[in-house]
Amino acid sequence: MKTILITGSSGLVGSAFQKISPGYNYNFIFSTSSDADLTNYAETKRLFEIVKPHYVIHLAACVGGLYKNMNFKVDMLEKNLQINLNVLKCAYEVKVDKCVCILSTCIFPDKTTYPIDETMLHDGPPHSSNDAYAYAKRIMEVHCRAYNEQYNTNFSCIIPTNIYGPHDNYSLEDGHVIPSLIHKCYLAKEQQIQFEVRGSGAPLRQFIFSEDLAKIIMDCLELLNRENLIVSTTEEYSIKDVAFHIAREFEYEEHIVFKKQYADGQFKKTASNEKLKNKIQDLKFIDIQEGIHRSVDFFKDNFSLCRK
Ligand code: NAP
Ligand code: GDP
Repeated sequence: MKTILITGSSGLVGSAFQKISPGYNYNFIFSTSSDADLTNYAETKRLFEIVKPHYVIHLAACVGGLYKNMNFKVDMLEKNLQINLNVLKCAYEVKVDKCVCILSTCIFPDKTTYPIDETMLHDGPPHSSNDAYAYAKRIMEVHCRAYNEQYNTNFSCIIPTNIYGPHDNYSLEDGHVIPSLIHKCYLAKEQQIQFEVRGSGAPLRQFIFSEDLAKIIMDCLELLNRENLIVSTTEEYSIKDVAFHIAREFEYEEHIVFKKQYADGQFKKTASNEKLKNKIQDLKFIDIQEGIHRSVDFFKDNFSLCRK
């Protein structure tokens, strides 16, 4: 049986892999920063030498929503460059058969044509709000290709849209829009105050439920060969739509206000899933209201312990 090392397994996507892994015939090894700090080469090498993985699914990263990307650019650049450098180097050195890295549709050019496809990643600068994170991720894609070309490795990149689900980071300041707004709506209802949504509410996003993403990565793992693949739903929702879906879960729709003094970020990042559809015939995604319902339930059930 092949051994798969999952880095970043305590996070949003890593927790989804832990949940779905019993359905797949691999020996999964889940690592977190307490097993190895991946910004440290010696610790990373030790982890790879102990696990001796056939495959690596590299999730670990310094991650956050729009406002973390704007306020912590040095961390987003340095930590991600260091982690990715060490992981790819060690994947090569212990001769893994396959390594799958995770990029994001938010690292594509700001000024572009839609829909975005896999060929367009380096066609122009990213949006200024997340340029540090975006360039660190883009370098990982260049790095994968460099290893493939020079050393004939089999490194690929999955490019998901905005991800949400149980075990997300529900931080009010640093989280992505869905977990942050779940936490904000929860507090607003508790304190009987307005539910404040940052920005105009107009920007459009595609959202993918974390377990759908994990299943899709597992279902196309054997098919991936030295390539980039966007993993996206087809539907696009405005931030306003999402805020209403969240407020509905708390029966608090009457109290939403949009705080336009906050940044909107990139207006949209509409991505194509045509390549994905050619790999997986019957693509299925959870409905967004159901996905939000499960994310709200997780937050309420784990309020004292969850990341926030
Ligand atoms: P997350 O919930 O923030 O989890 C990040 C994971 O990385 C955690 O398990 C964390 O481990 C680990 N990690 C961070 N720094 C580390 C270090 N120095 N050494 C070892 N492990 C470290 O992130 P996520 O949302 O699951 O994201 C997974 C991947 O998807 C990332 O590559 C991210 O860039 C990408 N992505 C995310 C989104 C999104 O909307 N969330 C969208 C597109 C792409 P500890 O808990 O032990 O620190
Ligand atoms: P992005 O999809 O990479 O831009 O990241 P986010 O998940 O952080 O989504 C950002 C969008 O949601 C922007 O248009 C924000 O103005 C909007 N938004 C509204 N309220 C919040 C909030 O509380 N946190 C975050 N992160 N975004 C918010």
